[in-house]
Amino acid sequence: MLLFSISSPAPADSQPVEESSRLLAYDYRMAGDELRTRIIMHFDRKPEINWFLLRDPHRLVIDLPESEFSFEESALTPRGLIARVRYGRMSPGHSRVILTAVGPFTLDDISVLENENSPGFRLIADIVSASHSDFEAAMRERIDSAPDAGAADTVGNTDEEDDRFTIVLDPGHGGIDGGAQGVSGLFEKSVTLAFALELRQALEDTGDYNVHLTRSTDLFLRLDERVRIAREHEADLFISIHADSIRLRNFRGATIYTLSEKASDAEAAATAARENLSDEIAGMVVQEERDDVTDILVDLIRRETHTFSIRFARTLLGELSDTVNLVGNPLRSAGFMVLKAPDVPSVLLELGYMSNPKDEAQLRDPEWRKKTIDSVVKAIGLFETARAGR
Ligand SMILES: [Zn+2]
Repeated sequence: MLLFSISSPAPADSQPVEESSRLLAYDYRMAGDELRTRIIMHFDRKPEINWFLLRDPHRLVIDLPESEFSFEESALTPRGLIARVRYGRMSPGHSRVILTAVGPFTLDDISVLENENSPGFRLIADIVSASHSDFEAAMRERIDSAPDAGAADTVGNTDEEDDRFTIVLDPGHGGIDGGAQGVSGLFEKSVTLAFALELRQALEDTGDYNVHLTRSTDLFLRLDERVRIAREHEADLFISIHADSIRLRNFRGATIYTLSEKASDAEAAATAARENLSDEIAGMVVQEERDDVTDILVDLIRRETHTFSIRFARTLLGELSDTVNLVGNPLRSAGFMVLKAPDVPSVLLELGYMSNPKDEAQLRDPEWRKKTIDSVVKAIGLFETARAGR
């Protein structure tokens, strides 16, 4: 008789663990977004676990005693930071779950808890998006603290960024989400991309910066993906670029937004609401974590990051006010989802209003873009110098 096994074949003389004595892993869930994802696995009894991290791609590996898995396929659909879930028997007495992430992460918590209201135990792992170097540090720390983790061969060099100031530019909208539409039919997504590409070139020409774009083509990205990319690159500055529209046709000028719990004014609140709709416009299911955005904001505004966001916004205002039409009170704030990286100073620049014919004409004008970009580059230079000298 021939026996086939999907997992690695066991040596011929090994006995499989009795089915009845195997651990039962009977439920699997994931919740969260690309900034923070929780994984919950339920077991019929207490599992002894060991875990470690692997890179290329970034993975969390959880080792278990030989287990019977009865997960619902639908629960394994990629979600948040997790791009793929695999599991199975590794060797007699030993099973493994491999969670492949969309980018670098760290483990905020991993623990096994006894259920309060039902029999059994649950394993909870909270993973948060992080930079490449944070992931490397977490991986090494785990190897040092648990030499049996079996990942020693994975330590090596990655192409780490040099220590230049790192900027992530975020051209708003993209793909199925066109953003605002101008009076001539032009879409915001094209304006923001053209501006970001030219700004990247100008920044790279100085030789002083690492510059990354969240997208460099006509691609849809969720708001949390944009924030995660900024964190992955350990950005020193994140600039989200937009060009809104409004019913008042003669309303025009640029606005610089920072994050705040309470909007600075009604127009700022309305702008944030429009920009935060991006995920819904693209037909994405809005995840439940949106509900606690307020808590995150309260926490954020106490942090140093916020001070730097405001400092950059003011510096940018100083430079733009010489070159660009600005709205009245051009420094405003509201609850923009895309500005919520806890560790990356972030601003959102509305270049102007697509709904205003003069603004739209400017946005199409290479000369206008060039002088605006010169101002942004100057502001970044001032901000970087001040920061280096602190
Ligand atoms: Zn926009």
